[in-house]
Amino acid sequence: MSLNGTYDPDNIFAKILRGEIPCAKVYEDDQVLSFMDAFPQTSGHTLVIPKTPSRNLLDTDPDMLTHVIHTTQTIASAVKTALDPDGIVITQFNGAPAGQTVFHLHFHILPRYTGGQMRDHASGQMADMDVLKQLAAKINAAL
Ligand code: 5GP
Repeated sequence: MSLNGTYDPDNIFAKILRGEIPCAKVYEDDQVLSFMDAFPQTSGHTLVIPKTPSRNLLDTDPDMLTHVIHTTQTIASAVKTALDPDGIVITQFNGAPAGQTVFHLHFHILPRYTGGQMRDHASGQMADMDVLKQLAAKINAAL
C-alpha cells in the first residue's frame, strides 16, 4: 500500500483493538495498546500502537504521536528492566516499499543480545501464545 492509501478498518491491528483476535497484552491506556509481536524477530519483540486509526507516522495526529512515542520509551525501559538486553532497536516503517506490512501505525521494540541473531523483518515464525503471555507479564511487571 502506498503512503496515500486509505485506512483499512479490517487490518489485523484494528481487529486486535476490537478484541476480534487475541494478543499478548503488555499495557494499555485510553489512547494506546502495547502487545507482543506474534512473529517475533527477537525474543521480547513488542509493539506499541495508537487506538485511533492512522496508517503511519505521516497521517497520525501529532499529539497522539507524542503519546505513542512516549509510551514506546516507557515500554522500552520496562523491556530493559525485565529482559536485560544488551541493546534495544526501535523501528517504524511507512508504506509497503519501506517494509510496512500492517497499515496501522506501530513502533517495534526489539531487544538485542550480544552475539544473538535477529530474524528478518516480517519473516518470522509464529510464536507460542503462552510464551508471549509470559514475556508480556514480565514486561508489564517492570512498568
Ligand atoms: P510492519 O511490517 O507493518 O512494520 O510490522 C507488522 C508486525 O506485525 C510484524 O512484525 C508482524 O510480525 C506483526 N504481526 C502480524 N500479524 C500479527 C498478529 O496477528 N498479531 C501480532 N501480535 N502481531 C502480528
